[in-house]
Amino acid sequence: MNDHSADHPLDRLTFTNRFTTELPADPDTRVAPRQVTGAAFSRVTPSPVSAPTLLAHSPEVAEMLGLPAQLWPDDPTALDDFAQVFAGNRLPAGADPHAMAYAGHQFGNWAGQLGDGRAIALGEILTPSGEHLTLQLKGSGLTPYSRGADGLAVLRSSVREFLCSEAMHHLGVPTTRALSLVLTGDKVVRDMFYDGNPKPELGAIVCRVAPSFIRFGNFQLPASRDDLDLLRQLVEFTIRSHFPELLPVGAVGGDKPISAEVIAAWFTEVVRRTAQLIVEWTRVGFVHGVMNTDNLSILGLTIDYGPYGWLDDFDPDWTPNTTDAGHRRYRFGQQANIAHWNLAQLGSALVPLVAEVELLQAALDRFPSEYQRAAEAMMAAKLGLPEAAVDDEAGRQTLRDLQTELWRVLTLAETDMTIFYRRLADLPSDLDGRHERMAVIADAYYRPEQLDTDTIAQIDQWLVAYQAQVRASGCDDRSRRQAMNTVNPKYVLRNYLAQLAIDAAESGDHSMIAELLDVLRFPYDEQPEHEAWAGRRPDWARSRPGCSMLSCSS
Ligand code: AMP
Ligand code: MG
Repeated sequence: MNDHSADHPLDRLTFTNRFTTELPADPDTRVAPRQVTGAAFSRVTPSPVSAPTLLAHSPEVAEMLGLPAQLWPDDPTALDDFAQVFAGNRLPAGADPHAMAYAGHQFGNWAGQLGDGRAIALGEILTPSGEHLTLQLKGSGLTPYSRGADGLAVLRSSVREFLCSEAMHHLGVPTTRALSLVLTGDKVVRDMFYDGNPKPELGAIVCRVAPSFIRFGNFQLPASRDDLDLLRQLVEFTIRSHFPELLPVGAVGGDKPISAEVIAAWFTEVVRRTAQLIVEWTRVGFVHGVMNTDNLSILGLTIDYGPYGWLDDFDPDWTPNTTDAGHRRYRFGQQANIAHWNLAQLGSALVPLVAEVELLQAALDRFPSEYQRAAEAMMAAKLGLPEAAVDDEAGRQTLRDLQTELWRVLTLAETDMTIFYRRLADLPSDLDGRHERMAVIADAYYRPEQLDTDTIAQIDQWLVAYQAQVRASGCDDRSRRQAMNTVNPKYVLRNYLAQLAIDAAESGDHSMIAELLDVLRFPYDEQPEHEAWAGRRPDWARSRPGCSMLSCSS
């Protein structure tokens, strides 16, 4: 560890550490892999790394923390300290580093205790604007939850987490954030395809930032062990710290036990947020890839960016995760069902605290209608049809028909989802002629040879139905286009773009990470100088690892 420099800006962060102050700690401080009982977390120090280099940071997250957006470009000492701190080499004053204990269902099977095996939170801070945020280093070495693994992360997965967290935020999708990406200077051995070819890769650490990293699995762990004291403490902590609006007036600062009704209301809110989250993923074409219960945030944030992917060509059956290639449990079109299943597991974990099980069941049963309502509003927005169009049952049915037919039509030929919606915004509602209409959306098609007469006829029939719906809505083309372009992004983190940034970074050129981050900060804007990044995935990326499929190895 480096010397503590008392006058450094990072020592002025205000650590509040509510999680570690208010919840029981593991009394054992060894990092040896083991079952941790009766504790919400274990205190653990990040492992030192040999030569931290800051590759990229998010100006918006820096500002949230009260740091200058561009850090300290003229102060190498401050900048170096930033790299040391967010590589885990120096603890800022007030930090209370720890790894959380949680369990989970992985691919539908109960996996028992998991926990932060390669993530170490530095602690929770209070920002200048009054927000509580936890800073967490991912890839910072062994914890009691590392099981047989090394607690480290490699550059490729860290670039992907760093860029995607920020891209999702700028798209308006709830997510954990990323402050920084540092190279550790150490090598990490990974067998990327689990095929007996381990290779040394560059080690890296992302500092993730979120109001909380609590997952469904945090509650499953004590519930699975009948540790009702810990379960109650965790639930009460979560509600008091992160959902105080659910507490009866006057009870916010109190310590009276939280009632079953409030716990059920909280679960209802988690159901609502989770449904909304999947709707947002559907809107932008994001596939999480590993929706295990330990990877679902209690706050409804996208969390744990592993083998995620973005739809290039629209395909509800697509999953980026090679580990899931057989069953495709976590495919794009299945994410809502899986979220519902995961919520059922969370609900089961809460049963011991809510004698009236019907309250939890009722909350869980709201998921399908909650999801459908939000999904319909989202689809209406994507199609530029005003909310009024889905105000009554007839309007909703028309929209449902239009959407069902669109999802079918989008799979007739390989169609780039992102480009399709941007082009659709340009379609004049009175444009005549099949050829003319198809010309407007032509860019979205990967294989023009698939567009035979019959396919074109089906696509165009949908376009004509859409035009009629637009005209019936009374919305003028200009306002529709503007509105659509605020919900249909032009730029997403296409899998191949992330891979290009990784390839360059692995050979020492980090510039594309910053460039991509800059473009993705304004995903709905036209950025003519970066037009190429809004185009279809190039052919070479069709089957290249990292561009079309990913493993969990990171
Ligand atoms: P994930 O698939 O990333 O959600 O991880 C599932 C579990 O494995 C979590 O408990 C992780 O902390 C743990 N884990 C994943 N990768 C590593 C690693 N390289 N070292 C230690 N633990 C890990
Ligand atoms: Mg995880």
